[in-house]
Amino acid sequence: MAQKDCPQCDGTGWKPIEVNGIRRVAPCDCQNLERSALLLKQARIPPRYEHCEFEEFSLRRIPGTDQENPSLERAKFTAKRFVEEYPTDFGLLFVGPTGVGKTHLAVAILRELILRKGVEGLFYDFHDLLKTIRDSYNPGTQNTELGVLQPVLDAEVLLLDELAGSNPSDWVKETLHHIINWRYNYKKVTIITTTLLSRDASGRRGGRQPSGEDIPDLDYTLNQLGVTLRSRLYEMCKLVEMNSDDFRKAVKQPGNKFREE
Ligand SMILES: [Zn+2]
Repeated sequence: MAQKDCPQCDGTGWKPIEVNGIRRVAPCDCQNLERSALLLKQARIPPRYEHCEFEEFSLRRIPGTDQENPSLERAKFTAKRFVEEYPTDFGLLFVGPTGVGKTHLAVAILRELILRKGVEGLFYDFHDLLKTIRDSYNPGTQNTELGVLQPVLDAEVLLLDELAGSNPSDWVKETLHHIINWRYNYKKVTIITTTLLSRDASGRRGGRQPSGEDIPDLDYTLNQLGVTLRSRLYEMCKLVEMNSDDFRKAVKQPGNKFREE
């Protein structure tokens, strides 16, 4: 649909151009603009995040130094490269503590894919998604479980924000398995953010080392959702670690590579 008052095409959706001296018409940009606006709206990015862009992402400095945080620099680089190379056959899994900007980068990717590549994307906070599905079981609601789930299963790119595994019920695990396996089988790209849980040396959640230090643990975090699901996520997504302390944990990922990587 063209914009009615477009000065370039007078609302026809076609603008006059000249190619090698011959006058022709071409699709007007206003058609794209409108499609982008519609796609953005359908992506359901919450107002809090709708202005997240790469340029505004802060490479917070390492406390006590004047250096930028290399893990955040790498994460931003990976995010931008992902947009450049899309369509890819893998998604991204952003992991790190609260407040490093996982959602910011993930939303920036989704927005760029929509605006630059016309991708049909969908944002869902994991907790909200579960609640919406649960609510759909109530008699008297307009929503059906399938009505809620189908767009999540089918979205060209799904951004699942704050995937959390703190004591998930069997129902939560099953629901997540269904979504992730479906998207895996249909080769759909999923971008996930998850906040790392910490544990102490004896494996207690939320525990600290005797030194008082937190040990954020990726495997431990994802294992809460089940070992099978953890492996599947590693298979589907390139891991992007964001940490203010620049800790690194080797996760072998034979696939999920950019070109020439
Ligand atoms: Zn126009």
